[in-house]
Amino acid sequence: MSTIGHFINGEHVADNNQPKPVTNPATGQVIHDVAMATVETVETAINNAYDAFPAWRDTTPLNRARVMFKFKTLIERDADKIVALITEEHGKVKSDAAGELTRGLEIVEFATGIPHLQKGEHSSQVGRGIDSWSEMQPLGVVAGITPFNFPAMVPMWMFPIAIASGNTFVLKPSEKNPSVALKLAELLKEAGLPDGVFNVVNGDKVAVDTLLTHQKIEAVSFVGSTPIAEYIYATASAHGKRVQALGGAKNHMVIMPDADVDSAANALMGAAYGSAGERCMAISVAVCVGDEAAEELKAKLLPKIEAMTVGNGVNDPDMGPLVSADHYAKVRSYVDLGVEEGADLVVDGRDLSIEGYEDGFFLGACLFDNVTDEMRIYKEEIFGPVLCIVRVPDFETACRLINDHEYGNGTTIFTRNGDAARKFTHYIQVGMVGVNVPIPVPMAFHSFGGWKRSLFGPLHMHGKDGVRFYTKMKTITQRWPSDMPSVAEFSMPTLK
Ligand code: NAD
Repeated sequence: MSTIGHFINGEHVADNNQPKPVTNPATGQVIHDVAMATVETVETAINNAYDAFPAWRDTTPLNRARVMFKFKTLIERDADKIVALITEEHGKVKSDAAGELTRGLEIVEFATGIPHLQKGEHSSQVGRGIDSWSEMQPLGVVAGITPFNFPAMVPMWMFPIAIASGNTFVLKPSEKNPSVALKLAELLKEAGLPDGVFNVVNGDKVAVDTLLTHQKIEAVSFVGSTPIAEYIYATASAHGKRVQALGGAKNHMVIMPDADVDSAANALMGAAYGSAGERCMAISVAVCVGDEAAEELKAKLLPKIEAMTVGNGVNDPDMGPLVSADHYAKVRSYVDLGVEEGADLVVDGRDLSIEGYEDGFFLGACLFDNVTDEMRIYKEEIFGPVLCIVRVPDFETACRLINDHEYGNGTTIFTRNGDAARKFTHYIQVGMVGVNVPIPVPMAFHSFGGWKRSLFGPLHMHGKDGVRFYTKMKTITQRWPSDMPSVAEFSMPTLK
């Protein structure tokens, strides 16, 4: 069995330190191991990125953008291979993996516009004979630490913009699916990226802690669960780094009495059960305003759940397995808990077994009704194919429920009432909001990020915020000798 190593300074680096198994979730079989980087290995990656920075910073923005253009064509060329890697190590179905790759590719496309995005501002004659401008300079070596659930897209939220704006990068992907990051590193090299600009270290807490505390790291982008996001934010900030740390979620869909319930039910199927619910923007709570809306929704959902296909992602069914045996056990235990807590388990996916894949981590779709805000299955992120229906008497209670929740990543409302939709988008305490759409994931040229305990730090991912995060502003004020003052001035300059 092979052990996956790292990618440092333009080369694959073999390593056999404390290998951890990587499993195909559909078969339950270990397919290879992945090495856990030591402090020294991570330091080697950081030092190479540090050495590569001056030349890359001084490469013209157009030439940096050209690497991104080439990278885009290489991703398109090898899309099938990348999709196969995602499905093999993550479990998500082929078409969903292709969707993830496309959303990542869109950030690469956005980053090709870096000569425009990184332009500063200029004011002439701010004082007599004085001009002033600001420019956005890269930070230096920046790090990305990413979760298992989007092995291509989430790293691509980060490094295309970071690199295009002149930084060098060290990525620490999830140890559950390390192969995609290495493939992307190979393609970046083929696209002409100089060695050392993009590095991948595989590993665990040892690698992460080295990145968070190392003097040569200027900024840390993190996506993962809230407890780790909070730790990353606190630790890296305490070590003087710029940090954006995106955490967990519990996303609600409000179904108003006037909603098009057919559309809401279709939207919920994909949003709740797509990718086996392992999406930070998955909808895990359907908030029905009134019992009638709840009954109607349930009646529409039941046959759709019954008709869902579940299996190995390579065959492109509706839903694949969960990522690991541990995660399967955790999600399943939440279903047990929901029953103990008194919610009505309307659809029980616990007994699912897929012929030929008896060792895979398959959990069927689960649906709870009459869930209340006291229950842990409501409060906590389950991150599996478990949808909870909560019944509320009115719109105000629906909004209060969402605003009181500790997470504020995404939410959406299904309604025909423009007034309710407007109030919802304006007042709801959530970072990404939809109206009559299932998962309001912003496009590459907007920014992605939640509120409350779904994001630590002021700047969201990609879009303008992404460029701001990976650049620091310098403001220059300039005068030439013909306009120099002839006498010394001791008062605060006011540029009259
Ligand atoms: P995770 O927090 O377990 O791991 C994320 C990364 O942190 C991995 O690279 C992992 O190796 C590292 N890590 C784990 N434990 C660590 C520790 N103790 N110290 C230092 N580093 C550590 O998350 P996951 O299970 O891989 O991903 C699922 C979570 O990510 C869910 O909570 C999901 O909501 C969240 N997520 C959020 C977003 C978002 O945009 N807000 C997007 C995707 C996923």
